[in-house]
Amino acid sequence: KPTRIPFMAGNWKMNLNHLEGIAHVQKLAFALHDKDYEAVEVAVLPPYTDLRSVQTLVDGDKLKIKYGAQDISPHESGAYTGDVSGPMLAKLHCTYAVVGHSERRQYHGEDDALVNAKVKAAYRHGITPILCIGEGLEVRKAGEQVAYTLAQLDGALQDVAAADAGSIVVAYEPVWAIGTGEVATPEDAQEVCGAIRTRLAELYGDEVAAAVRIQYGGSVKSGNVAAIMAQPDVDGALIGGASLDADEFVKIVRYRD
Ligand code: PEP
Repeated sequence: KPTRIPFMAGNWKMNLNHLEGIAHVQKLAFALHDKDYEAVEVAVLPPYTDLRSVQTLVDGDKLKIKYGAQDISPHESGAYTGDVSGPMLAKLHCTYAVVGHSERRQYHGEDDALVNAKVKAAYRHGITPILCIGEGLEVRKAGEQVAYTLAQLDGALQDVAAADAGSIVVAYEPVWAIGTGEVATPEDAQEVCGAIRTRLAELYGDEVAAAVRIQYGGSVKSGNVAAIMAQPDVDGALIGGASLDADEFVKIVRYRD
């Protein structure tokens, strides 16, 4: 864990237009200092329509905050109305792209094969995937959360080379905890995050497994983040609702204080 830099990423989902997004990033930039960025990597994941504005702000002011997209097309270009490609996101200097968020799986029918193709598209363009996996309530009630989540991991990483996999960020997000106020216990988070790391070691070896950052996501707030971060295999958080409040997001970044 000491070699893995904690990573806090704010998933804005379909919130904040580009003007609101600029104001939000300015608030974060004003509040966060070098010592925060030395301790924690910080990223925002705005809607596509905000990315150009965020890029201009970050590049122009040499801000240390990183940014990425909430999705990425598996295709390079062409007749895919409404989609946004890896080359377009790379041109905007996106460091990250979320892949396989449960809301994409649920509302857009994304399956593991498509998630796998999106992971590969991100790597083709030098973008780091934040791969979201996690079980729903029925699976949790049946006690099948580890097997279910690892099957999603296996599916997303089909034919992904070790050289790429070492930089991936995996977000364990139990669907029943997303946006519900129902946070997994630190032990629940550790159980699955630990299993994810063990599977990464089986697939790619100990070195890759030790390098990969695993985030927990699901109703993370300033009041519960420290206990979750204390778990040995939790290296950060993917934060939805609470990331829309700049003061709250800054408190989450400063979870050690
Ligand atoms: C998310 O969007 O990935 C998420 C975890 O949302 P929330 O923090 O609102 O539960």
